[in-house]
Amino acid sequence: MQLGALEAGGTKMVCAVGDENGTVYEQTAFPTRTPEQTVPEMISYFRDRDIDALGIGCFGPVELDEASPHYGTITSTPKTAWQNYPMAETFARALHCLVGFDTDVNAAVLGEVTFGRARGMECAVYLTVGTGIGAGIYVNGGLLHGMMHPEAGHVPVRRRSGDTYRGGCPWHDCCLEGMASGPAIEERWGCPAARLADRPEVWELEADYIAQALTGYILTLSPQVIVLGGGVMQQRQLFPLIRDNVARMLGGYLQAEALRHMEDYIVPSALEGRQGILGCLELARRKAAGPEKGENGTKI
Ligand code: ADP
Ligand code: ZN
Repeated sequence: MQLGALEAGGTKMVCAVGDENGTVYEQTAFPTRTPEQTVPEMISYFRDRDIDALGIGCFGPVELDEASPHYGTITSTPKTAWQNYPMAETFARALHCLVGFDTDVNAAVLGEVTFGRARGMECAVYLTVGTGIGAGIYVNGGLLHGMMHPEAGHVPVRRRSGDTYRGGCPWHDCCLEGMASGPAIEERWGCPAARLADRPEVWELEADYIAQALTGYILTLSPQVIVLGGGVMQQRQLFPLIRDNVARMLGGYLQAEALRHMEDYIVPSALEGRQGILGCLELARRKAAGPEKGENGTKI
């Protein structure tokens, strides 16, 4: 089966063609300008490649309710040109193929459970810590949607004593994204995160906020593994700090075997940034397979 994958981001649109085994035959990227400029470029790319289905992992928030007339649109993005843009429908009509559609981070967690560190697991969380913070959540063999989709990057965190940074989220006083995103680190410390590698206090604080959120996810969702990605997580010294903080915050309450092996429980992605595009291939495969054979929310 020849599958298309589109990882739709705020700065670039990554387009790829591959198969259900996660082999990517070719890949390209178009800068994200306006839909009028960028969508025709992507359509002509896929049109030349004869795909059976397309999977789109999209920046959001997006509408995922298939019963809604707005299904497959980007809803309230600050990128105003893309507001209410009907992504799924536009590609389905232009390419005459089935289109699987989800958030970028849900695509990434799908990549991880299909091909990466969460392979074969029924419940997993993927958290990206970059320009923004977002989580993809996979539960009981399907991507979590619910009321809309998780926005777990905005969970409240408790401000650590001595941290005077006011937070960078326009909606929330003290949420994970506002306190711990790449731009928040830069604003708090006055220097890009990548240049703060040798400042332990930066990463101790960062690990505390990330661990607060992960502790909440663990207690609520009971994931079998948590995969962390995004630019900020290139600071590998964060991993042991986060694991120690999570163990402390859980307070020994959960007696799960997985938590005895924290180095295998809270892990970096092993897919080297390809989790999103591989997840889009799997979104396409599941859509083509239909509801009985593993489309979102149904077990294979
Ligand atoms: P995006 O979230 O925009 O898709 P990234 O995941 O690459 O992109 O995240 C970009 C953010 O990550 C920026 O705020 C940048 O400062 C931060 N970042 C990038 N590289 C590093 C690094 N090596 N160490 C720490 N922070 C980094
Ligand atoms: Zn917020």
